[in-house]
Amino acid sequence: MANYLEMNREELTAEKAKLNEQYKKFLAMNLKLNMARGKPGPHQMDLAMGLLQMNDYTTDAGTDARNYGDLEGLHEARVLFADVFGVKPEEVFVGGNSSLQLMYNLINIGYVFGFPESPCPWSQVEKRKFLCPVPGYDRHFAITEEYGFELISVPMTPNGPDMDIVEKLVAEDDTIKGIWCVPQYSNPDGYTYSDETIDRMAKMKTAAPDFKIFWDEAYIVHHLTEEIIETPVLLNESKKYGTENRVFMFTSTSKITFPGAGVSAIACSVDSMKYICKRFSVMIISYDKMNQLRHVRFLKNKEGVLAHMAKHRRRLIPCFDAVKTAFSEELTPCGDIAHWTNPKGGYFISLYVMPGCAKRVAQLCKECGLTLTGAGSAYPYHKDPQDSHLRIAPTYPSLDEVETASDLLCVCVKLAVIEKLLAEKAE
Ligand code: PMP
Repeated sequence: MANYLEMNREELTAEKAKLNEQYKKFLAMNLKLNMARGKPGPHQMDLAMGLLQMNDYTTDAGTDARNYGDLEGLHEARVLFADVFGVKPEEVFVGGNSSLQLMYNLINIGYVFGFPESPCPWSQVEKRKFLCPVPGYDRHFAITEEYGFELISVPMTPNGPDMDIVEKLVAEDDTIKGIWCVPQYSNPDGYTYSDETIDRMAKMKTAAPDFKIFWDEAYIVHHLTEEIIETPVLLNESKKYGTENRVFMFTSTSKITFPGAGVSAIACSVDSMKYICKRFSVMIISYDKMNQLRHVRFLKNKEGVLAHMAKHRRRLIPCFDAVKTAFSEELTPCGDIAHWTNPKGGYFISLYVMPGCAKRVAQLCKECGLTLTGAGSAYPYHKDPQDSHLRIAPTYPSLDEVETASDLLCVCVKLAVIEKLLAEKAE
């Protein structure tokens, strides 16, 4: 295989014909593969079936978990999540089966009522804005888009969002009300914010007194290597600067036990806790404490969580390796037509193809039975200005399927790049 960027028209045309033959073989396989969403595979969920054996409903305090009460969560569940977050139990709110719903609820509270520091509810801020590190998580962006925020892209780096840009924007503009962050093994690049980024997040001056950091620790224990990466805890760091009310941390067991039937949590200051409990108490009497108790009995503590995640890791490593091996064997020899991330945790690999090709790659894959997350979906308004990024989720399919999907994906990348190069040469 030769470098596509050095090929002339005839060579590219011959290579395209070869690739078309390969593509046809995949077409004939009538594939139905999906590397779109970050979902655990059935084998991973099987690992948590023991949870259903935990049918005890008497809490450590002797109360009955079947009944109403404890809006902020069962004490033992708060202790478990405090251990995972690295904060105090009184700073933890344990909710229902979705952290995304908690994020939505908090944006809604800001919109309808504001926070204690708010000059007015966010709904009354005409040109309200939210910072979105890109590429990022489409469902985060969708929440703030739904509530009428203008989504401002901030470029990601391997150390987190570009903090020079973040600091400048938030210092100047009091209509910027917050930022979305996935600080550990970010969705989709798999980057972990550096200690310096976390410190700057805690201490930056914000023009808005009610600026909030939505710090989504969705992948806090989702290590893909033996290295257990731990970073400073934003809530604790922010106390050094008196900014703890700007921090809302989130996590859930969606990718530890069962997505959709797990337990979610918030970590925030004690002041914020009082405020959100007051608001939430109008919405709900208490969350599913039987499920909270089952999770505590099953996972026990952070050590138990990490031991459980090690079982996930054994299944996930081969799937991630299969994608990266295909990329380096098939794409690297073609020259600088694509690059990709090498995450140490989380659920995704970012593939960056030659600008102007991502949509075409996704389309070629789809026509051949491989669904990817729509090109551009990791950017506000689904618009990747470079049309370069594709988010690859290797967790759900079986290893065989991941291997087939990766091979097909490489053929589609090469085809899309050649089409683009040929089109450029024709101009
Ligand atoms: N945050 C991030 C960054 C995610 O990737 C996901 C799931 N893909 C979620 C939140 C959703 O979490 P939950 O199931 O707790 O709502």
